[in-house]
Amino acid sequence: MRRYSITQALGLPEYKILGILLDTKKKIHLQIRAYKRKKAKCSGCGEYHDTKKVHSLKEVVVEDLRMFGKRVYLHVIKRRYRCLKDGRLYIELIDWLKPRCRVTNRLAKEIYRLTSITTNQEAGWYLGMNDEKVYRIDKAMLENLAEQHLSPTPVSTNISVDEVAWKKHHRYLTNVVDVDEKVVTWNEKGRKSKVLNKYYESLGEDNCQKIESVSLDGAKTYISSSKKHAVNALIVLDRFHAVQKVNNAIDHVRKNELRKARKNEDEELILLTNCKQRFILLKNKTKRSDRQSSTLAHLCDINHPIYTGMILKEKFLEVYDLKTEDEAIIHIYEWIDDALESGLKPFEEIAWSLVEKIEYVLNWFIVKRSSAISEGFNNKIKRLKRMAYGYRDIEYFKLKIHQHCGYLNPRRFNLN
Ligand SMILES: [Zn+2]
Repeated sequence: MRRYSITQALGLPEYKILGILLDTKKKIHLQIRAYKRKKAKCSGCGEYHDTKKVHSLKEVVVEDLRMFGKRVYLHVIKRRYRCLKDGRLYIELIDWLKPRCRVTNRLAKEIYRLTSITTNQEAGWYLGMNDEKVYRIDKAMLENLAEQHLSPTPVSTNISVDEVAWKKHHRYLTNVVDVDEKVVTWNEKGRKSKVLNKYYESLGEDNCQKIESVSLDGAKTYISSSKKHAVNALIVLDRFHAVQKVNNAIDHVRKNELRKARKNEDEELILLTNCKQRFILLKNKTKRSDRQSSTLAHLCDINHPIYTGMILKEKFLEVYDLKTEDEAIIHIYEWIDDALESGLKPFEEIAWSLVEKIEYVLNWFIVKRSSAISEGFNNKIKRLKRMAYGYRDIEYFKLKIHQHCGYLNPRRFNLN
């Protein structure tokens, strides 16, 4: 390969190739150095010092973008200077290379773009890097972007607050979605009032007052925090959160019935209520396949509690299809009666909490905002979690949510 074409492909105009140290089918090692005319930026004070007074040289090896299908390693010769400000020795700063980083900025960007569309494992396979390396580079990149784009906390007018399970044994994080912008704007570990308080505090009092609506699932912690800070906001239990609530209830009923079926060695019922059948109960009725519908019909035939639970679930969600608040009030009170008579504890609990929180359901008739975006993010985050086989590093998981559902998505800004 001719040196001229390599120089062209490399596209670092202020650097010259001193030599090709190794060139095989799969990789190429290039030694490069800045032209003498290129001024050196001091890593001590950030200013440019006289380039003639080089103290010494240091070579670092970094990986760069692929070239002609080969992996590229740059042996960069860096200059060391005595800083005019404090008289100490500093190595020059290179704008396409972060200090102590083993890859060039443009390769880091490439990695971050890849991990925004696929798993770290897949990205690693594609680049020939191990997961650990991809993780380190990706995380550093996201931390950097978070500083630029998420601080201070982006201001929103209409928000949705959700809890996301990130680990077994009830480890949660709180996620705030800007409903108008369709992005996740903030997240933090935990789901207590004090966690959401942190969000509101980061916005500041003035911005909190500008919030017009807060959609949530009716959790006391989120309500109390929102009432305290978002004083002008309408608190809404929207359809998305209502679905989550009734789905949790029906799943509890299923688990109970499964337990009983196991005790009675009722093989048919065990098959119909085991974990794999769970999704049939949770799915929206319009999304079930014919086969799933007939399985469900059969299950409802042979098991009364599940049948009752399913009717309660569907009937509850009908509220959101009604036209007026008055119709909704009648419907909800009927539902509360039905639920309290059902003998199904999880639904009774919802009924009791509704007595207190009916205003939040009714607020939906004032706001009537689609909750499709929260639902979409919920699914994306679940997929993200599966992709990473559960994140050990919660800080990284938080950043990944921003990368896939928020302001850190590469599609949102021009990276060049
Ligand atoms: Zn200096």
